[in-house]
Amino acid sequence: MSTGVAEKTQKTIGGIRRKFAPWNDPQAVPLIRYQNVTKRFGEFTAVDNLSLDIYEREFFALLGPSGCGKTTLMRMLAGFEDPTEGQITLAGQDLVGTPPYKRQTNMMFQSYALFPHMSVWDNIAFGLRQDRMEKGAVNARVEEMLKLVKLETFAKRKPHQLSGGQRQRVALARSLAKRPKVLLLDEPLGALDKKLREETQFELMDIQMELGMTFLIVTHDQEEAMTVADRIAVMNHGKLVQVDQPAVIYEHPNSRYVADFVGDVNILDATVETVEPGMVTVRPAAAPDRRFRIAQDCAVKPGDSVAIALRPEKMRVELDPPGDSSVNCLQGEIWDIGYLGDLSIYHVELPGGSRVKAAKPNLTRMVERPITWDDKVYVSFTPDAGVVLTS
Ligand code: ATP
Repeated sequence: MSTGVAEKTQKTIGGIRRKFAPWNDPQAVPLIRYQNVTKRFGEFTAVDNLSLDIYEREFFALLGPSGCGKTTLMRMLAGFEDPTEGQITLAGQDLVGTPPYKRQTNMMFQSYALFPHMSVWDNIAFGLRQDRMEKGAVNARVEEMLKLVKLETFAKRKPHQLSGGQRQRVALARSLAKRPKVLLLDEPLGALDKKLREETQFELMDIQMELGMTFLIVTHDQEEAMTVADRIAVMNHGKLVQVDQPAVIYEHPNSRYVADFVGDVNILDATVETVEPGMVTVRPAAAPDRRFRIAQDCAVKPGDSVAIALRPEKMRVELDPPGDSSVNCLQGEIWDIGYLGDLSIYHVELPGGSRVKAAKPNLTRMVERPITWDDKVYVSFTPDAGVVLTS
């Protein structure tokens, strides 16, 4: 499906916005290739015949619920696990059998694992000294790394004299010091509070772009994945469900699973009534007297059972009916309201008892007649707001 979103993605490098989409270029050679990789632990299959290409300079996120195989996939690239079947290559070189320290990858863990008795400087220099790098070169590289993570004035401190965010940056500097081809980040921001986490996400992106390196991040925070990544792989039970750019994953999920996992969503069962080019008309099970017209080219036929995914922020909730309330409109009663400051989430109960959520931005402080509990409301949306899901 061509969405048009892919072509719009740009990266800012050195102040210049440029298109970055090597996955759309048939000539581009992937840096990392998982080919039919399976990992079993005894009888249990953690990664199931999975193939994936990741390109140089990509910031790639593995996203999925706990236990779906994200970390195992990353650990196989780092060399901490071997695949049971399949092949993993980095820059064309088969990695299976290569020990972790001989791979051009480095892994940064959530726990940071800094040496407590060493200064920030020595922590960063540790791997370089182990590699017997010449002293002048070590000094230059550590200085460069301290500058990169903005910790020049903290070089002499020990880890316990730093904040969580500063420790995280030391760990990052240490992971980057040896200039690996690929940096593997396992829940790197898990220990930070929300605000610092958000700030650090942007710092990570800046650093990744400045160094022109390939970053692979494991997270179960979907907002984090959406913020930092060029592409996201959504996983379930050791398989990839969808691999695409964040906006495509969010706006055009390929399944109920992805729609439900990424962001808040209403998923309504429906039966297809008519199919025209670029438009599908369905009858929602929750309101059989209504019709939804969804602007989508879709391989379905009348009578098929489908699901319609509707993001709450794309649903309008109003006290007055929209112009035409027979199409793309539901009537119901306010059952609950979640006030989030910037927006309010209205839970609307439909006559049949099911509920939908609609988000409304709180644009002004004073509203003449705010929508409140038990109000009768209309929830409407445009044909391009919904997505027809067949799986
Ligand atoms: P989380 O987000 O909780 O870290 P994850 O998606 O990273 O989860 P993995 O750590 O890759 O999940 O684990 C995938 C599955 O493989 C889990 O069910 C886990 O229990 C299992 N598993 C991982 N390592 C081993 C091991 N060494 N022995 C047995 N089972 C394992």
